[in-house]
Amino acid sequence: MDVHFLKPEQYQPQCYQIFLHYLAQLAELLPHARIEHIGSSAIQGAISKGDLDILVSVDAEQHAASVRLLEQNGFSIKHDSVSTPELSTLLSDVRDGVTIRLIATGSKYECFVSFRDCMNSNPTLLSRYNALKQDCEGVAFAVYRKRKAEFILQILKECECSKHQWQTRGLSEHYLGSCLCGEVRFEVTGPIRSVVHCHCKQCQKGFGAAFATFGVCSFADFSIVSGLDKIQSYQSSDDVKRTFCRCCGSNLQWVNENDYMEYASFCLTLLDTPYSPSNQKHIYCKSKPSWLKLTDQHPKYAVLET
Ligand SMILES: [Zn+2]
Ligand SMILES: [Zn+2]
Repeated sequence: MDVHFLKPEQYQPQCYQIFLHYLAQLAELLPHARIEHIGSSAIQGAISKGDLDILVSVDAEQHAASVRLLEQNGFSIKHDSVSTPELSTLLSDVRDGVTIRLIATGSKYECFVSFRDCMNSNPTLLSRYNALKQDCEGVAFAVYRKRKAEFILQILKECECSKHQWQTRGLSEHYLGSCLCGEVRFEVTGPIRSVVHCHCKQCQKGFGAAFATFGVCSFADFSIVSGLDKIQSYQSSDDVKRTFCRCCGSNLQWVNENDYMEYASFCLTLLDTPYSPSNQKHIYCKSKPSWLKLTDQHPKYAVLET
């Protein structure tokens, strides 16, 4: 079997959709697992064979039970792979090119995440990775696999940028979100501190809806992971910009660059990761349409919280 590579735009959008499908399924099966999109399809600009790799990280003592659970629910241990208490590799029985790396949290196999982060933060490394792949176009699969493994090891030795990032990331919260067309994707790598339903006239017009719902997290925990070039903004008042995807029109963020630099505010309903808020509030209720009845128990403010 010879290797053939696809350009990012030929496989990454589909891979992300498939990832979301598995994310929902895996999150339900293993509610305490940390689930991450890894491999080339998670590296912006990477050429690839077009397969999808998913990392599922569970506590070491849950690892064996988690393998069994996946085996009962549509996944099988990859036949030529080594299964250890820290790493099992499973394939989806659907045979859609999906590989699950079930790892023990904090083990050396967190390197799958480190490698992805190195590649995403360093364009020079990514061009070396792409060059290696182009060089392997048409070679036997075993040859490619060996060269790729050597390259990954080398990079993990060289690249300091995200070496221990996973340790701080730990089992802390991690959410993924995307716009309607999927071009713009973001991640939240910490707690969502509050959920705000805004009933102001600007949100009504900007969203074409009765109100807008924002999630608020620390500025440092929010990052756009792809589609930065698709983001456009509208200055809706002196201090405030509203950003949106120029391909599909999805609202993305409410940005006040003067007053709220500590926090990032994003459209909560863009989240693909399941999330249920621990606290919510309504603001600018004085301008809500008269036909909308708010019957929930959450705090309601005429303008802002006082
Ligand atoms: Zn879009
Ligand atoms: Zn508003």
